[in-house]
Amino acid sequence: MKIYLDGEFVEKDEAKISVFDHGLLYGDGIFEGIRIYQNCVYRLDEHLERLEYSAKAIVLDMPWTRDELSELVCESCRVNGLSDGYIRLIVTRGPGSLGLSPSSCPKPSLIIIADKIALYPEECYTEGLKIVTVPTRRTNSAALNPGVKSLNYLNNVMAKVEAAQAGALEAIMLNDQGNVAECTGDNLFIVHKGVIFTPHASNGALRGITRQAVMDIATSQGYEVKEVNLTRYEIWNADECFLTGTAAELIPVVGLDSRKIGTGSPGPVTKKLHAAFHEEVSTHGTLI
Ligand code: PMP
Repeated sequence: MKIYLDGEFVEKDEAKISVFDHGLLYGDGIFEGIRIYQNCVYRLDEHLERLEYSAKAIVLDMPWTRDELSELVCESCRVNGLSDGYIRLIVTRGPGSLGLSPSSCPKPSLIIIADKIALYPEECYTEGLKIVTVPTRRTNSAALNPGVKSLNYLNNVMAKVEAAQAGALEAIMLNDQGNVAECTGDNLFIVHKGVIFTPHASNGALRGITRQAVMDIATSQGYEVKEVNLTRYEIWNADECFLTGTAAELIPVVGLDSRKIGTGSPGPVTKKLHAAFHEEVSTHGTLI
């Protein structure tokens, strides 16, 4: 496997960064997780736009244009012969001194990893996931805006650990008001009486690319989609629940904290949207 690292493609074992990189020292950096389906990079422009927004938010000047980044992502797939898989694009603040200030970091580093995708087991899609609510909360926007896809994922990692300790593959993270924000790496939706609801971004939800795709698909199919404040009460009483994310795509949720959601099986709206999402990934790609 060849990794793009600061201007060249190097073998995986040679892809090394400085121990003084502030991405490592402080989680000072940003990233995107992107999918490629059948030689087409899915919604690449949207991912790069979100990366630019994250960069602006952390006051990081990216010296690459969107076209250059787009080409490098495609080239990373070509170099690795990857037609279907997952691309991780990382921009770190770059090497600097041991102090916190990014002013000691003259040049950000760019890393692109194009790899096979590790999916949830197939039965999670056919039978649905049982998820839990974990104690670790989503970052408060006054501390670190959850819209920034930063390298600071430690509380999401803790939430994932807590989920595993409770025997679940995914977890709901609440915000500091106790409203539902999202899961550790996925956005959350419910269906109630035919209407689709998802936590508003102001509740701590990342503006997921898959979230937006599913909202667009559902709207075009005539569903009403609402971004709201959601509590666990609404999930307990939902007819259906599902998660969206680049890696997970669209995955049904059939249980929360040992309670059954809906019938306890993936619901018809979830199945319909999942099928439509599969259609859509073949039509919204950048050919590599
Ligand atoms: N929330 C979090 C915290 C994430 O890290 C991700 C991405 N894995 C998502 C939601 C889903 O976003 P997207 O659909 O853009 O992958």
